[in-house]
Amino acid sequence: MKRTQESGRTTESRAVHGGEARSRALDTLAEPIAQTATYTFESTAALVAYMEGDGGEREEYGRYGNPTVRTLERKLAALEGTDDAVAFGSGMAAVTTSILALVKSGSHVVLFSDCYRRTRQFVTGFLDRFGVESTLVPPADIDALERALTPRTRLVVSEAPTNPYNHVLDLARLGAVCRERRVKTMIDATFATPVNLRPAEHGIDLVVHSATKYLGGHNDVLAGMVAGPENLISLIRDLRHVLGGILDPHAAYLVHRGIKTLAVRVKQQNATAQALAEALEAHPRVRRVWYPGLASHPHHDIARRLMTGFGGVVTFALHGDLASTGRFVDACRFPRIAPSLGGVESLIEQPALMSFFELSSEQRLAVGISDDLVRYAVGIEDTDELIADVLRALDETA
Ligand code: PLP
Repeated sequence: MKRTQESGRTTESRAVHGGEARSRALDTLAEPIAQTATYTFESTAALVAYMEGDGGEREEYGRYGNPTVRTLERKLAALEGTDDAVAFGSGMAAVTTSILALVKSGSHVVLFSDCYRRTRQFVTGFLDRFGVESTLVPPADIDALERALTPRTRLVVSEAPTNPYNHVLDLARLGAVCRERRVKTMIDATFATPVNLRPAEHGIDLVVHSATKYLGGHNDVLAGMVAGPENLISLIRDLRHVLGGILDPHAAYLVHRGIKTLAVRVKQQNATAQALAEALEAHPRVRRVWYPGLASHPHHDIARRLMTGFGGVVTFALHGDLASTGRFVDACRFPRIAPSLGGVESLIEQPALMSFFELSSEQRLAVGISDDLVRYAVGIEDTDELIADVLRALDETA
């Protein structure tokens, strides 16, 4: 596992200790949950000292900050190798507040067309009402991105890897192209986690996570985070003060606890997903598999250069239609049918019946979603048992 620069500690050690003080109030080992809406001042003099910036590190009001949330933010910054990070009540609160902090009326934003659909909806169907223009470019196509940049482009947004096809774009080239044009870059690295990919090391400005997924890791909490350089994070934090999307301290505790086991969970998920992808690729009922750890994936070489593991999501298409694919999904005993990914429990879905349900088969195909497509987000169950379950379900429903 690569060592990160800041302290020479590995990602595994940072997941456990990163961002944490050596000693805590009341000598607790675990991070305390600071369950409070506001914070008191000893005296008027203490209040005035704080307002004049001379009050040491402390909080003022719950919407502006919380010590439990702050520890979580420091841990993510330590993991991503960035100056700082800021936490929100959901991944979408992190995405929307961050984008709003960077654009104004007349700005132009470029999105890779396969970025998270609600992010796309926010930019193309909401920000456009306030005079922010946008252009969609094909997945991972940096030549198309270069052509799309204009003097008013402020921001480029992509996911890495993307949902559901696990596209991985060349982040170093993206960062270099955008820096030269003074355009900020934002990568939603939810699928990767800092265990597999640290976009800031490749010159990306902002790294966004739906912490609901791998960071929390237990399918029991909604959260979002963004990591980056001090100047951008303080802009985003200031806007969070206004828009009000701060993470709740109980939820912050859960994400912080989840991150303690992030490295072991993700390494297990990487190994299971790789084995599952290989088993699926060898099965006659499977038409195609999209997993960046397979040599057949169009971005396998880029993924090998950038990533230390390829993630826990395996997307595949069966020879079949909507109904026969549904029969296979129903025959799997391990994964539960649900949206989301990244937790300890395996989850399975047919994108055609989940995110794209309202479209007809033809409309879905036009956006690249076939009826026979399955997304399998592996959990931390035993690899061999999980694969045996999938192979049995394929054979039973052939
Ligand atoms: N980004 C990605 C890649 C996601 O998969 C999701 C949720 O599915 C989000 C952002 C939004 O996160 P949340 O559901 O925590 O708001």
